[in-house]
Amino acid sequence: MKYDCMIVGGGLSGLALSILMARAQKKVLLIEKKKYPAHKVCGEYISNESRAFLIKLGIVPEQWHLPEINQLVFSDQRGRLIREQLDSGGFGIRRYALDEALFQIARKEGVDIRTSTTCLGYEKNMQGFKVLTNAGEFEGRILCGAFGRYAFGNFNKGQTGGENWVGVKHHLRGAFAADTIGLHLFEGGYCGMSKVDDEQYCLCYLVKAEMLKKYKGQISLLESEVLQKNPRLAEIWKEGQKVYEDPLTISNVTFYAKQAVADDVFYLGDSAGSIAPLTGNGMSNALRSAAMLEPLLNKVLNEEYSLAKAAKVYAQEWNQQMGQRIRAGRWIQYFFCQAALTPFFFFFVRNFAFVRRMIIRMTHGKSF
Ligand SMILES: Cc1cc2nc3c(=O)[nH]c(=O)nc-3n(C[C@H](O)[C@H](O)[C@H](O)COP(=O)(O)OP(=O)(O)OC[C@H]3O[C@@H](n4cnc5c(N)ncnc54)[C@H](O)[C@@H]3O)c2cc1C
Repeated sequence: MKYDCMIVGGGLSGLALSILMARAQKKVLLIEKKKYPAHKVCGEYISNESRAFLIKLGIVPEQWHLPEINQLVFSDQRGRLIREQLDSGGFGIRRYALDEALFQIARKEGVDIRTSTTCLGYEKNMQGFKVLTNAGEFEGRILCGAFGRYAFGNFNKGQTGGENWVGVKHHLRGAFAADTIGLHLFEGGYCGMSKVDDEQYCLCYLVKAEMLKKYKGQISLLESEVLQKNPRLAEIWKEGQKVYEDPLTISNVTFYAKQAVADDVFYLGDSAGSIAPLTGNGMSNALRSAAMLEPLLNKVLNEEYSLAKAAKVYAQEWNQQMGQRIRAGRWIQYFFCQAALTPFFFFFVRNFAFVRRMIIRMTHGKSF
């Protein structure tokens, strides 16, 4: 066997797991279809539950002078505001910078990273797995899927579901609050904005695919005709200067829990299930899954656990820690983006602090 552990996908979960496994003296292969650094559609707000883990990996938010975010403002389609203190809080960082920094750490730790390499599928054999890519085949004992939300080949086979969304991201500069994350509803979607590094703000929204279709796929038309009907978003568009002319977009975005383990392949981050960004914390889920999986994989490689036992423990832990949050997130997103229900839901959230607290509690986890 050439590798102890092969990881497909070098986003947050794949990079984090590769660093931990390499530090445990294991031979790790990481396959990533893109090159670093690269932009990614993401709101770029990381909850503080991941802070200690990121420091352990080698990313110290204080050294990066990252904006600390501890206030939330939330507006409905008419621009009516709810303000809430975010007790747990978080910070902002561009994925362009974060993924690149983790990539450099992984390289230093000795991970064999193959960039510009697209995985096509895998074969299982007596000794482990063979991974098939556009740049040849690789063999290893353990296989992990950390390729994000889009299944391919025989990975996560037959797993589909949920409503179809489109994600759009801009970076802006302007005189906005540095300690606040804004979440603003519009017809058929919602938009988040918060400060990141390099004096930029990340403005990222999700819109139902059917809504964008109504505007013939024209993003700027959708933004002027639909998003800016919310006066809070109109203000942002007026005050902000775009860092890049064109936004970054992704389509076919769905939110549902998949399987944490299938066919003895371990899945991390969005490959195992994506949480609706309205309730945040997809990045923390991705990092947390790496933190949960690493000790189990090392027990398998050190002959303390069978693969079956590690799979059972990981699936149970994953369901406990992430499954419930993903389901809660999907329902909350549904209530806020369903024209007939939004006013009632907004009324309850606006008038009852305990509802707001409950939502925050249901969608945030403990520090790890
Ligand atoms: C609109 C939107 C806003 C969001 N905002 C936030 C936010 O503010 N805060 C937050 O915490 N989360 C947010 N999220 C969620 C967050 O971005 C994801 O949960 C997180 O990136 C998941 O990390 P990952 O490692 O699972 O996957 P990714 O970071 O997506 O990494 C997957 C990697 O796999 C690679 N890959 C894919 N297929 C292959 C292949 N065949 N071969 C090789 N490599 C492959 C990809 O190139 C990619 O680099 C948001 C998501 C969306 C859609």
